[in-house]
Amino acid sequence: MKAAIILLPGDGIGPEVTGAARSVLDRVAQMRGHEFSFTTHRIGGCSIDASGVALTKEVLESCARADAVLLGAVGGPKWDNPGAAVRPEQGLLALRKGLGLYANLRPVRPHARLLDASPIKPDHLKGVDLLVLRELTGGLYFGMPRGRDEVDGRLRAFDTMEYYEYEIRRILVLAFRLAGGRRKKVTSVDKANILETSRLWRATAADVARDFPGVTLENMLVDTAAMRLIAQPAGFDVLVTENMFGDILTDEASVLAGSMGLLPSASIGESGPGLYEPIHGSAPDIAGKGIANPVGAILSAALLLRHSLGLEAEAQAVERAVDRAIADGFRTADIRGSGSTEAVTGGVVERITFI
Ligand code: NAD
Repeated sequence: MKAAIILLPGDGIGPEVTGAARSVLDRVAQMRGHEFSFTTHRIGGCSIDASGVALTKEVLESCARADAVLLGAVGGPKWDNPGAAVRPEQGLLALRKGLGLYANLRPVRPHARLLDASPIKPDHLKGVDLLVLRELTGGLYFGMPRGRDEVDGRLRAFDTMEYYEYEIRRILVLAFRLAGGRRKKVTSVDKANILETSRLWRATAADVARDFPGVTLENMLVDTAAMRLIAQPAGFDVLVTENMFGDILTDEASVLAGSMGLLPSASIGESGPGLYEPIHGSAPDIAGKGIANPVGAILSAALLLRHSLGLEAEAQAVERAVDRAIADGFRTADIRGSGSTEAVTGGVVERITFI
């Protein structure tokens, strides 16, 4: 197949790990006869330096026309000033909004050989293979009104938690669809004992579940989910939740894998290209040293193959190759190895096979 892929390497280790992911995609294309075209653009700090904004209109338009976007990371000490009017992360926000991305997907599957790299007891990690879906467009982060005022001479701040039923429904439908191709269980996380938005969320989940009789729905309060993610993570298959709960739970889930450098993510819209990026930042402390773990970016490329291009066999081949490379000792320093980014990438590329 033909596919147009935009690369947004960004800052810090972004270019190093994006280069690794591209090598993997090139190898897949070569082995399977696909034609992937790559166009590279700036985002984040490097875009601010070049054009004064974190994402130009032209780059956004180019992304919107593509089949998929693969991003490295943005930011770094040079631009890290919370008070600045122009900041690297504005590029990411503009991209998410401009592409209409409503669901963030984070799969977490700790590698059997790396269970001791996590702060969680290895026994708890056996069999963990979960997918967290976070809603991206609604909830407390966008609800209006928000602001500050004075009531009876006392300063007050307020935010609004707001959800439309269609926003809840579309991410639940995605969760059930994805669970259908996995272990057929959806855990819908809310705070329905307190919040009205959560009561609408829970009612919508029950309604959506009726259309997916082969998938089991479990409702869980967010406080219980936070505890279970650490105490019994193997009990989850697909976990789906609203924006702020998801922000917190995705970071909690990432601890299970042992290193930030290992984890991929995908952001999906109703139509148009998806955005794929490792969950880590630009790691300025190791940038340019050739030691960044490329696995998070490589597994993001696997998600791109699966969710934007519909190439499931290719996605699985990349995931298997990563598993084998790690098992064969291709590891960077963050997972107690001594391999370079290049060596680990080479180890993965050599292990891509199709059955
Ligand atoms: P970070 O994820 O960049 O780094 C945290 C720690 O993890 C560092 O010690 C780093 O060396 C290590 N690490 C991260 N990725 C790694 C990899 N692939 N291989 C090996 N080690 C890795 O988080 P931070 O230090 O809080 O932030 C640094 C910069 O990145 C900041 O400017 C921040 O705003 C930005 N950031 C960007 C994103 C993004 O682009 N999505 C996300 C988080 C942070």
